[in-house]
Amino acid sequence: MSSTALPIAETFVSLQGEGKLTGVPSWFVRVAGCNLRCGWCDTPYASWEAAGEQREIAGLVEEGRASGVAHAVVTGGEPMMFEEVGALTQGLRGAGLHVTIETAGTVFREVACDLMSISPKLANSMPAEGDTRDPLGVWRARHEKRRLDVGVLQRLLEGSPDRQLKFVVCKQADLTEIEGVLGQLSGWQPGDVQLMPEGTVVPKPELVSWVVEACVERGWRYCHRLHVELFGNRLGT
Ligand code: SF4
Repeated sequence: MSSTALPIAETFVSLQGEGKLTGVPSWFVRVAGCNLRCGWCDTPYASWEAAGEQREIAGLVEEGRASGVAHAVVTGGEPMMFEEVGALTQGLRGAGLHVTIETAGTVFREVACDLMSISPKLANSMPAEGDTRDPLGVWRARHEKRRLDVGVLQRLLEGSPDRQLKFVVCKQADLTEIEGVLGQLSGWQPGDVQLMPEGTVVPKPELVSWVVEACVERGWRYCHRLHVELFGNRLGT
């Protein structure tokens, strides 16, 4: 790969659908390629079947600058897998954009950004046994080994001016795992922690109700997926 290019699955302008900046008009750049394989991954075209074209950093920065919005979101896949992401975020910030990096938090790099949006992967992210995309269970084993690295999470928390920790939840037992992870980390506030019900459709009330309760009890935030509500789960949104 050229040292000035990145594999890009898509770029688009939309509203940020998740997290502290929900609703903010943003230019998204989605890197193709991921070191994990979440069973419920909502962007399989950037992970399970990563497909992207090599795009020069300079061209991407120019596209971000010309997008007409003030926020850029560097997402994936897993953007932190790629050394070149540092040049991309630096260029976008140099162009005057606020930059969010969306990462699962398993790879550390010294990269400039304004908001480090970390989504640590819980046990519920494991691909199921017998998943037809992983017939030999190779990714299942690899995913389990890689999905949580507390040392990397801590360095990411310390290295950015603002941060959020978004946890995808499926069942109440996930709260125990989340508290276990948070208990090993410092440098976060309750308002940085977000719970996001799993799914690519608007979540059912029975899932929403205990997530709301858990957030209220702990001072955490409920993270919905505005883009799913507004546009459905489709590319370019
Ligand atoms: S880390 Fe993100 S992009 Fe990678 S497999 Fe999981 S949900 Fe998909």
